[in-house]
Amino acid sequence: MSALGKITESCTPPDYARADYRAERYRMQRKTWELLPNRGRLTACCNALNTGPGDKGYATIRKVTEFTGEYCTFQGVMRCGSLWTCPICAPIVAKRRAKEIAHAIDQAHQKGQKVLFVTFTFRHQRNETLQDNLKAMSTARAKFWAGNPATRLKTRFGIVGRITATEVTHGEENGWHPHIHELIFVDQYADETELSNVFFDRWSAIATKCGLGTPIRERGVTVRHVCDSVEAISKYAVFGSELASTELTSAHTKQGRKGGRTPWELLRDATNGDKRSAWLWKEFAEAFYGRATVYWSKGLKDLYSIEELSDEDHLNGEDQELEQHQEVIKLYKFDLYLLRKYKARNGALQIAELLGERGVRAFLNQLLELDRAEREAYRKRLAAQFRNVQTRELIPTSALPRHALRMPALGRHSKTRSNQYVN
Ligand SMILES: [Zn+2]
Repeated sequence: MSALGKITESCTPPDYARADYRAERYRMQRKTWELLPNRGRLTACCNALNTGPGDKGYATIRKVTEFTGEYCTFQGVMRCGSLWTCPICAPIVAKRRAKEIAHAIDQAHQKGQKVLFVTFTFRHQRNETLQDNLKAMSTARAKFWAGNPATRLKTRFGIVGRITATEVTHGEENGWHPHIHELIFVDQYADETELSNVFFDRWSAIATKCGLGTPIRERGVTVRHVCDSVEAISKYAVFGSELASTELTSAHTKQGRKGGRTPWELLRDATNGDKRSAWLWKEFAEAFYGRATVYWSKGLKDLYSIEELSDEDHLNGEDQELEQHQEVIKLYKFDLYLLRKYKARNGALQIAELLGERGVRAFLNQLLELDRAEREAYRKRLAAQFRNVQTRELIPTSALPRHALRMPALGRHSKTRSNQYVN
């Protein structure tokens, strides 16, 4: 066990940032299973074979070669697709969604259009619940873009479409801070100050009416021109995209601490044993359940000829792309069971990276031996317990009273009894 214990999700070789970070994400995922026990799909993520399109009856470990280096990953496993809560699925979809947005921005620039990055916030307090504020904020956002005044805004600034994302951070001083990021596509030059003033007046009135704290003029609505797509993507919050980079570094954490913690940071602190963070993260997971991560206004995807793909399509697409990479080893249902049982998913990937197929096979054999030994020990324990049960404790049938063995007879008594209930 000691030899195996070293090659689990908690073990990483020194100066190997990617494996270190991946190990952390697997640990965080295990924590989500514990915190959200009712979401069965979460626990199957990366632990079972993919039963969707392209199911072959086995999964694989593939070696991916990128310009940043080589790494191994699972292919053909089930993905839960819980983009708010799963630290394994979220970055996959976020990376692909970010690509769509980058494509839209490039297309807009080619057409001579401008892209604005707008953030809507409101004043909030420590004692307000996330669920209530989130609901009110969604209503306010819908009202902001509805009716004749919104049409006048669109005409005045030449707005052709919007991409919206909701974000949240948590600060110890002011509690939950939900806010909206919008990329607004306009077909004429728009003055940032003029636009932010007009937007602020409308947003402030609507937010207050919806029961949110009145926004502050300096921060209620902020507007910035997006000059190139890369900059936009790094600043624009596609939820989970920060996980897609290989370095969710300590610098990121420090930055988060100052301006409040992101849900991933809460989950990480929860995984490291902080109970308050666990409680807060659960509140976040429940409030955001079922919400879309990114919303495109009607017709915008058509305008830039971007295909309408669901989260599931993106996950399947990623899986198909992985199939083109070099296969290291095939994994069957029982292999995945072993990897899950011994918390060895990251361990298996690390061994695949360092030692290739033979290494993983030897590792799986060790896990199998361990599993067999455990089963044998369990069987022996059960047999010993059974021997201790004394036979006189088992009641022979002859000792039972006669009426207990007989079927109830359908005599006249039962007839009269049933008639009692007929009116
Ligand atoms: Zn998942």
